[in-house]
Amino acid sequence: MQQVKVQENKQDQVNTKLKPTVLVLASNNAGKAREFGEMLSPLGFEVKLQREFNVPEAEETGKSFIENALLKARHAAAVSGLPALADDSGICVDVLGGAPGILSARFCGVHGDDQGNNDKLLKLLEPYPQSCDRGAHYVCALALVRHADDPLPLTAVATWDGYIGQRPLGNGGFGYDPLFEVENRGFTAAQLPEEIKNLISHRARALKKLCALLEIYPL
Ligand code: IMP
Repeated sequence: MQQVKVQENKQDQVNTKLKPTVLVLASNNAGKAREFGEMLSPLGFEVKLQREFNVPEAEETGKSFIENALLKARHAAAVSGLPALADDSGICVDVLGGAPGILSARFCGVHGDDQGNNDKLLKLLEPYPQSCDRGAHYVCALALVRHADDPLPLTAVATWDGYIGQRPLGNGGFGYDPLFEVENRGFTAAQLPEEIKNLISHRARALKKLCALLEIYPL
C-alpha cells in the first residue's frame, strides 16, 4: 500500500513538471503569440492570447516602452488571475528626440496607418538627407509578471539599430520596415525574409534576454 502511494506521488510530480505554465499574452495578435510561444515553450510555457480570458485592452498611459509593457502585463494578470507577458514596441529616431517612440502605431494620428506614419516620418526627415543623421532604433520592451502586484517583474528591453532610408524599399514586414535600413547591411527590414527578421529583430533580441532571465528566475 505504502509502495503504491509513493509511486502515485512520483507520478504526480512528473505530471506537474510536464504541464506547461499558462502565460497570458497581453495582446490579441496571433502572430506575436506564435513567435513568443516558439521560444517560451521549451521553457515550459504555453502562451495564450488575452481574449481567451476576456481581458480588455489596457490603457497605455506610460511614457516609455517598458512602462507601457508593465501596465499591460499587470492589467492582463489582474483580469485573468494568471501570470502575464506583455510587449511594447516601436521605432525611435535620434534626430527627432526619439519620436515616433511609444506613439509609433499612431504617429500620423490614425492608429495602424502604416502609409501615413511612413509619409510623416519621411517628411520630418527631409532637412536631414544624410544617412548619418537619420539613425533609428526599433525598440522592444517585454514585461512578465507572476501576478498583478508582482514587485519583481522580469523585464527586458532590446533595440535593433539602423537608419531611415530616403524612400520605401521591399514588400515584406509591416509598419516602418520599408524605411528601416538595417545597420551595416545593404537592405531594409522589408527586404528580409520573415524567418530571418524574426531571428535578429528587436523582438527576438528582447525575447532572448527574457529567456535568459527565466533560466535564472523561474516562475
Ligand atoms: P506594437 O507595440 O507591436 O503594436 O507596435 C507598435 C508600432 O510600432 C507598430 O504599429 C509599428 O508601427 C511599429 N513597429 C513595432 N515593431 C515593428 C517592426 O518589427 N516592424 C515595423 N514596425 C514596427
